[in-house]
Amino acid sequence: MIPFNKPYLTGREAPNIAEALAARKLSGDGPFTKRCQTMLEALLGSGRAFLTTSCTDALEAAALLCGIQPGDEVIVPSYTFVSTANAFALRGAVIRFADSYADHPNMDPGSVASLITPRTKAIVPVHYAGVACDMHALAALADQNGLFVVEDAAQGIASSYKGQPLGTLGDFGAFSFHETKNIIAGEGGALHVNRADRVLQAEIVREKGTDRSAFFRGEVDKYGWVSLGSSYLPSEMIAAFLLAQLEDIDAIQARRLAAWHRYAEMLEPLARAGAFELPAIPEYATNNAHMFFLLCPDLETRSALLDHLKADGIYATFHYQALRSSPFFIDNAGPETPHADRFSHTLVRLPLFAELGEDDAERIAASVIQFFKS
Ligand SMILES: *Cc1c(COP(=O)(O)O)cnc(C)c1O
Repeated sequence: MIPFNKPYLTGREAPNIAEALAARKLSGDGPFTKRCQTMLEALLGSGRAFLTTSCTDALEAAALLCGIQPGDEVIVPSYTFVSTANAFALRGAVIRFADSYADHPNMDPGSVASLITPRTKAIVPVHYAGVACDMHALAALADQNGLFVVEDAAQGIASSYKGQPLGTLGDFGAFSFHETKNIIAGEGGALHVNRADRVLQAEIVREKGTDRSAFFRGEVDKYGWVSLGSSYLPSEMIAAFLLAQLEDIDAIQARRLAAWHRYAEMLEPLARAGAFELPAIPEYATNNAHMFFLLCPDLETRSALLDHLKADGIYATFHYQALRSSPFFIDNAGPETPHADRFSHTLVRLPLFAELGEDDAERIAASVIQFFKS
């Protein structure tokens, strides 16, 4: 069976963890954390990076940093992971679900514009499959209406919008290093702060609402509880693991991109013939090979395709249930999101991981072709 995902190890993870253990510095913000943050800052080119225990936590920190209060409205895509919305719902926000484009799961700025009210505080674009949202259009809406932009860049590492790295375009960016992402730490994430005037507050929010970080820099003579916060720091063992991955990012990306392009080459002819759809990547966006997905004509075809692949030893899968229709939110869901619903019913993700060879991608694509031709 070809798995859907196989976490990739560079070989440096265990030696790095052994080094962290030998140093007996195990809690957060030690040397490995600092090195990861420096590497991330170099990769992203601007702003400040803070490791967190997950992207979910980075989003929760961002919700605190935006000062979200009960009754504030936050616009998120309907077609996304629970954490995008839940982070803001935890602060009492009213979640408003924007629809996707007709031909891509990313949030449509036209739908976002229709949801803005005087109570709107933030927009949370999700760069689905590592492909950038239209950040120019979203930033214009944010500027006109005085809104925060929090990028859910969980899938967006090593990808950009008009040459600018994802996660650096909004006020805050949230990354994930969950084992299903391109760069992994088991569980892990990062909060990227693009506003110099929010860096100190970000440190406080991440350190249980205390000014502990400023204290250790000698900027205050004692530290205490100064704001709301939580504990979002990963341990040094997580950072030691992550450093190995960040150091190998180019090799990891090259492998993923090779498999992705093999899929695309083989499947494009049949997509052009109308058997299924492949998403277009807009001119302003790059592809980081986080995901390879196609859209079936309908739910029945998708179920049959997944069954066919499974019988052929290939584990492919669907993705999100549109959050607007989730059991938790259905009672106050707002306008329908038909495009998001279509992706819920028709989208198929093929296996994609760094160890998936081009020959594997060929075999999987051949199986997809066989299904649609028969
Ligand atoms: C993976 C993912 C998350 C959650 O990341 P964790 O690190 O597991 O908390 C949030 N949003 C999106 C879009 C994701 O793909």
